[in-house]
This record gives sequence, C-alpha cells and structure tokens, in this order.
Amino acid sequence: MSTNQTRAERARMPLAREVVRAAAIENGVCIRPIPVRRVDRLTGATELVDLPCGATLASKCPSCAERSRRLRIAQCREGWHLDTEPILEADAPTGEQRTLATARADLERARVDAEDAGEAPAEADAVIDQVDELVSDAGVRGRIGAGPAPRRVRSTRRRTDVAELPRRRVNPRTVGRVYAERFRPSLFVTGTLDSYGPVHSDGTPVDPDRYDYRHAARDAIHFGRLVDRFVQNLRRFVGWDVQYFAAVEPQRRLAPHLHLAMRGTVSRAELRQVAAATYHQVWWPPCDQPVYDCVVPRWDPDREAYVDPETGEPLPTWDEAIDAIGPDDEPVHVVRFGAQIDAQGVLAGSPDANRCLGYLAKYLTKSVADCHRAETDRQRDHVARLLDVLRWEPCSERCANWLRYGVQPRGAHDGIRPGSCRGKAHRPEHLGYAGRRVLVSRKWSGKTLGDHRADRRDWVLQLLGNTSERPDPDRYMWEPVRTDDPDLRSLNRRLLLAIAERTVWRQALDDAKRRAGLDPPDSSATDTAA
Ligand SMILES: [Zn+2]
Ligand SMILES: [Zn+2]
Repeated sequence: MSTNQTRAERARMPLAREVVRAAAIENGVCIRPIPVRRVDRLTGATELVDLPCGATLASKCPSCAERSRRLRIAQCREGWHLDTEPILEADAPTGEQRTLATARADLERARVDAEDAGEAPAEADAVIDQVDELVSDAGVRGRIGAGPAPRRVRSTRRRTDVAELPRRRVNPRTVGRVYAERFRPSLFVTGTLDSYGPVHSDGTPVDPDRYDYRHAARDAIHFGRLVDRFVQNLRRFVGWDVQYFAAVEPQRRLAPHLHLAMRGTVSRAELRQVAAATYHQVWWPPCDQPVYDCVVPRWDPDREAYVDPETGEPLPTWDEAIDAIGPDDEPVHVVRFGAQIDAQGVLAGSPDANRCLGYLAKYLTKSVADCHRAETDRQRDHVARLLDVLRWEPCSERCANWLRYGVQPRGAHDGIRPGSCRGKAHRPEHLGYAGRRVLVSRKWSGKTLGDHRADRRDWVLQLLGNTSERPDPDRYMWEPVRTDDPDLRSLNRRLLLAIAERTVWRQALDDAKRRAGLDPPDSSATDTAA
C-alpha cells in the first residue's frame, strides 16, 4: 500500500469483503453459504463443505435467487404445453424428505416448548413456515405438521348478486386439446382485483382520503383464497383437470395480481364468465369498528383468557364468536376479481410463449414491496397508508388484532397485543399478501422442483462428459458446523475458493458447449450446477 495516500483516499476504497462479495455475485456464487461437515459413511472421511443458502429473494442472495428463478422458468416451460399426461406415483420418501421431516419435528418441539413457557411461538412459526415450504418443494403433498386447526365453515350460502356457473363433472384429463391436427394452444391469463379509487400512472391514488385502503388491505390478505376458488370453478366449468403455473405479484397500485400459465385453452368469454362468478366470502366476527381502541384487553392468568380491562369479564373465544354469526349476517369481506381479466392464446416454443415466461418470472426474486420501489413522496405516502390499515386488520384466525375487536383469537396466549401481530401479512415486505409467490398445480410437470434441479444438473454433467452415476444420497451424513469451529475458514476465503472453482467449471462448460455446437456461453443453462 502506498504510504502517501490520504485518509480520504483510503476511505473511498471499497472494503475487501465488499469486493469479494461483488465478485461472488458476478460469478453466480452463493454469498451466504451454509457450512456443514460431510461424513462419508463408506470411508469415514469428513470434509467441510458449503451448501448454497437457497434464497429465492435477491435481497438475501442474488446468486441463489437467480438460480431459483431459472429453475422456475424451466418448470413452467416444461408443464405448459405437455402433450402426454404426467405420471404421478407416490414414491417412497426420499432421504431429503426424511431429513426435512426430522428438522421439522425439532421445530415442532421448540414451538411447543415456547408455548409451554408462555412465550410467543412466532419465532418458531416463521422457521416452520420456511421448512414447510422446503418440504413441499421436495415433493411432499399436504402439510407435514399439525397445520392450522380445522376451519369452521359458517355458511355456504351462495351470493344472489352473482350468476351461477354451469357445473360439469371434472374428468381426469390434464392436457389440452389439439386443433387442426397440429395446434395445441395454451393460455396466459392475467387476473386483477377491482378498483379502490382512481389512481395516477405511478399507482398512487388521485384522492388518497377517498381511496378504499381497507378494501385493498382485505383483498390482499384473502387473495390466495380467491385464486384457489377461481381454479376450482374453472375446472368444474370446463370439465377437465386444468393445470396451472402462476405467479402472484403487486401492481403499481400495490394490489396483488395474478399471472397464470394454464395448460390447454378456454375461450376468453368463458374465462370472463368464470371470473365474474368467482368470489371468496370471509365469515369472520365483525371487525369494522374497534371495541377496544385506547385500552386493550388484559390477560387473566387464572382464567387463562383475555378479559375486559374494566369488568374483568372474559372476551368471547374464537369459536364462540364464530358461533354468534347468524344466518342473516353478511360476510365481513368478499373478494372478487375486477372486470379486467385478460387471456392470450400461446403456442409452444413461440416468441409469445417466451415473452409470457418472462412476465411470469420477472418479479420472482423480489419481495412484494421491492417489485415497485417507492421513489417519490407520493408513493411513500401510499405505502404508509396501506401499511397503517394493514397493521390493524386481522390477518388470520390467530391474529392478535382480534383483541381490538373484542374477540380472543384462536390459540390466544399471554403476551400478544393488537397492532403488533407478527403475521407476514402485516409486514412491509409483504403488503398484505402472505401466501406463496409461485403457485403450481400438482400435475403441472409431474415433477418436483428437486426433480427439475436434478434434470438440469444431469444435463450439464452429460455435456461435460461426466457419465458417473449420481452419488447415493444415503452415503453421506451431514453435521452442522459451529461458527467457532477451528476448521472453518473465513467467509472471504471460502467465497474466493468457490469463485475459483466456478471459473474453472464454467470454462469447461463453455468449451463443451462450443464443441457440441450449442448456444453461446452465458445462455440460460450455464448456472445450473454447483
Ligand atoms: Zn445463496
Ligand atoms: Zn395478524
């Protein structure tokens, strides 16, 4: 280092760890690797290896997020124009699934312990959500944990203001029809929620005071149920087992909307008919007027219940409040699509198909809040108003906000407070929609995400002339590594080694591609292995 550098000059120099990080990102190397000790059961040898963090959001790890986005594109492409029925067999649980189930069991234990100790189990819940998602990505059907308590359905009354759909028996066919003996069109559908008031082109309300933020918040919270209902109605209406790959993302006005790739086709008019007849009614206790605004109900340890701060009388429990909903009551909220539902016919391999895949994957690596960053005061104000309303809306049966409306939420325990629910829906990065961003029906490609990942890895290995069998997954045992483990190198050194390894590997892959006469380097398949 030169000795006559000024302090200011040195201050402007990037930190070494930032440089390494940037290089790692440029090379598609995971920047938050998880060190594990791999024990070979055959030889007894142990080795420290880094597992990629597997993040799906670029804000956490751009390299893993990009890999996961490409995998989703591959999954979407493969199922969209399938011309034979996917074969689905319930395989014996794999090693990966068993490992995840074990991890999930530990978390369940931690959750119960936290509850027994009177602590809020939110921390464990967040991790449980994450693991449940991994389990389902690993190809396990249904929820592995106890899941939410059975939903109490209060009313199945049809709305009289909505036209009834003709219903057909759903036959098991999932592939689309062939037209003119060679065309097998599929559909790209965009579903949008209703208006909450006029908006500018930047998505902000023309009159923020009259914009219906509460309606917007509730629509966002219940959007997932609307999508479920839509697909269910569509299947009954067309009479075959429609399959889909969908992405949920916010519009500029911050309302969630749906991009859905559907296998097979229906007419635009029919699709509109189904959308117009689709709604989801929320049968919850009343929550329009707060019962407790300034004072909040307190926990009475003797009664194990929240009680009125003045009278000491327990608040109705969740079940009591649900039972009190009468036959003449209206649902608390009804979610439905707006008038605009758009559909576009798409043929396999066409430029249109690629463009639609681009739409579907465009925002997958961004959190809901990051899709459209608030840059002006007006936009920041819009976000703040929506979040303020979301803060007090009940997000689920277990939401602490029910106390504000004079009801004990399901599973009420000491230490919860209205306005401080830790449910995802209230958080700035979710803006009301706490569901999964990618929704894939079970018979889409007939493969799990893990299968798609393995396919791409195999493709690369084959190209590299590596025909060795995939290693037996039960051969290795994995042990966690503590951060103070003396064998663990610094993060910087591990990243540098990973970058070097990747450079060699990429060079080999590019050479192999050139030899095979495949597309130029840096095409979408380069980042699959590792
Ligand atoms: Zn990563
Ligand atoms: Zn909540």
